[in-house]
Formats: sequence, structure tokens, C-alpha cells
Amino acid sequence: MEGYHAGGCQCGRVRYRISNMMDNGHACHCRMCQKASGSLVMFWVSCPVSNLTWTRNMPEVFSSSDIAERSFCRDCGTTLTFRRIGRPHVSISIASLDKPQDVPLKFVWGVEARTDHFDMLDTVPSHKSDMDFITTEQAVLTSHQHPDHET
Ligand SMILES: [Zn+2]
Ligand SMILES: [Zn+2]
Repeated sequence: MEGYHAGGCQCGRVRYRISNMMDNGHACHCRMCQKASGSLVMFWVSCPVSNLTWTRNMPEVFSSSDIAERSFCRDCGTTLTFRRIGRPHVSISIASLDKPQDVPLKFVWGVEARTDHFDMLDTVPSHKSDMDFITTEQAVLTSHQHPDHET
């Protein structure tokens, strides 16, 4: 894919840019991704390690196994990257990109740990976030989330 993509953690302490993004957008249901993200699925896309540039601060790194490292923001906890040690590519959390919609999904990994919740997604009532008790205006006023752009 052309150009670069930017992203960062929820609080904005850590920001990055990636280029030469591979066409390998994928979901991972594996148990390691579940625990690392605090969610039931992660979405990843990869780029060469040398094409990942931290533009604001560095993340913390957790060795999730003897062969892999995961990085995250020390202040807000957002999961940012996954890397097999020694491999030339690093995986970036698609959710942490400013424009996650830009990355197409190509395959699904870790299906042995996929939970039944995903079969239920289209069978339960669905609501937009602004149907919550808090109004969109209040949510913006009280949010500590960094906006989806670079500065
Ligand atoms: Zn953060
Ligand atoms: Zn995984």
C-alpha cells in the first residue's frame, strides 16, 4: 500500500507512523491476543520493522513468550504491536490506526480460541454509542482520548 499510515494509543502519549504496509490485515482470536488486548479479538496488519517509526515517545514492551514481544502504552494500556523476535516484520494493531477502515481484512487467525460471542453479534439488539446515557456532546467534553490525527 502507498504512503504512510499514522496511529497511536488512546491517551496520545505514544504515536507512530508506518509505511510499506503489507496486504495482510487479519483478525486473531488466539488466547494471547485476547489477554493482551483485554478484548476477545485483535486485528493486525504488518510492515517491515524498519518502516515503523515512533513519532511521540516509545511504548513499553512485554515479552509475552520466549519468541514474541507485545508493546503497549504505559499510561493508558493500549496494545500497539506484536512481533516475533528475529522476524523482519512487526504487526500493528489496526484499531490503533487513525483510519482503521482503510485496512481490508484478508484472513482470520487463532480460530481455536474464537468464542461464541461472534456468532451472536448479529442476533442481539444493536445500538449506536450515542444511545448510551451520556450524550455525544458530554462524551466529547469529558473524553481523555487522543483524536485520530497526528498532533
Ligand atoms: Zn496512551
Ligand atoms: Zn493472536
